[in-house]
Amino acid sequence: MKQVVSDLPDDRYRERRVFVRVDFNVPISNGQIREDYRLRRTVPTIEYLSQRGAKVVLASHLGKPKGSVVPALSLKPVADRLREILKVPAVKFVGAVVGESVRQAVNAMKSGEVLLLENLRFESGEEANDPVFATQLASLAEIYVNDAFGTIHRAHASTYGAAQLFSKRLAGLLVSKEMEVLSQVRDHPAGPFRVVVGGIKIKDKLSALKALLPKADTVLLGGGIAYTFLAAEGVATGDSPVEQEFMPWAKEMLTQYRGKILLPEDHVIARSVEERDGLQNVHRAIPAGFKGLDIGRDASLTFAHEVLRGTGTVFWNGPLGTFEVDEFADGTVDIARAMALAHWRGAFTVIGGGDTVAALRKAEVLETEVSHVSTGGGASLKFIGGEALPGITVLSET
Ligand code: ADP
Ligand code: MG
Repeated sequence: MKQVVSDLPDDRYRERRVFVRVDFNVPISNGQIREDYRLRRTVPTIEYLSQRGAKVVLASHLGKPKGSVVPALSLKPVADRLREILKVPAVKFVGAVVGESVRQAVNAMKSGEVLLLENLRFESGEEANDPVFATQLASLAEIYVNDAFGTIHRAHASTYGAAQLFSKRLAGLLVSKEMEVLSQVRDHPAGPFRVVVGGIKIKDKLSALKALLPKADTVLLGGGIAYTFLAAEGVATGDSPVEQEFMPWAKEMLTQYRGKILLPEDHVIARSVEERDGLQNVHRAIPAGFKGLDIGRDASLTFAHEVLRGTGTVFWNGPLGTFEVDEFADGTVDIARAMALAHWRGAFTVIGGGDTVAALRKAEVLETEVSHVSTGGGASLKFIGGEALPGITVLSET
């Protein structure tokens, strides 16, 4: 078991500097934060440490500045918002990640205060996991905490290299909750266990599918990835995305798990997402020149019916169509609503994936209508697939 911030006695934090890797990668335009869900999710860990007298040094990335200073990607607006929402003695901001100004700001911190560093990715050493940069980060504090699940699969300086240099390396409350829920889904799902997977690249879903197929009662496949399976079954898929390299594997899975894999029986097709001409619902075969862009009306009913079957567990990753375009959003919206209904009927429902969470919003399903919304897209699938995640591997064992 990995150590969590709540495992240490309260007095271990008094007057101690604690480095907390957070995920403050929020949408900002014209210096305004559009949506601050990720900030709210870190409040428990930050206030837990502050209330115990720690000096909390926060570090995050924002966007992709690729190692240079991009003013539009400054974390200053985040510091301003944190000042409004956190119940702590002070929230300070320093416009650098490492160096003399940071050292001075850290030295001036008082018990319970919070200091946010500038965007980690302004420094090329962050993504390169540069040892000198990692040492500079690690010199800022005495205890290390990771509460950034979205980047926990990366071996960057703030998630891996710097973490290794601390003697205490703890999971934050959010990361701890993610590990608890996702390991329950992976290792001990209450049955019946249904899995819904959509999205576009089989490679991203492979380890999770391999881990979940033996355990699930039903696996519903939709979205772009379904066409590789349909093609493997010999169904005509027209110009839909088919990943040749995964055809043999898909065929093997269909043989091994014949009874549990459910593929869409019909499709919403068009010549392309942009042009939408020839838009129609077809059963089974997709004609040449057309792409399957959403599961069809019948498939949507069948999938929703499966999601709603009994209590147990439902895990969903990946939209079932190009939901960003209204004409192809119905299948995804129907499943999002079925997920919410399953939750209210007592099922344990878990959703992961950046686009899947966006689809939830489009369906007007609230986060509180899902038992757990994972904050990590790639990270949650890799965790479920049993892959070693550097940011977790590095944490101290209890
Ligand atoms: P997540 O971020 O939730 O893990 P993915 O990134 O795997 O999900 O997949 C999301 C993308 O898959 C969306 O941009 C969506 O438009 C696309 N998609 C879903 N179904 C199809 C399809 N039939 N054809 C092309 N793209 C699709
Ligand atoms: Mg995605």
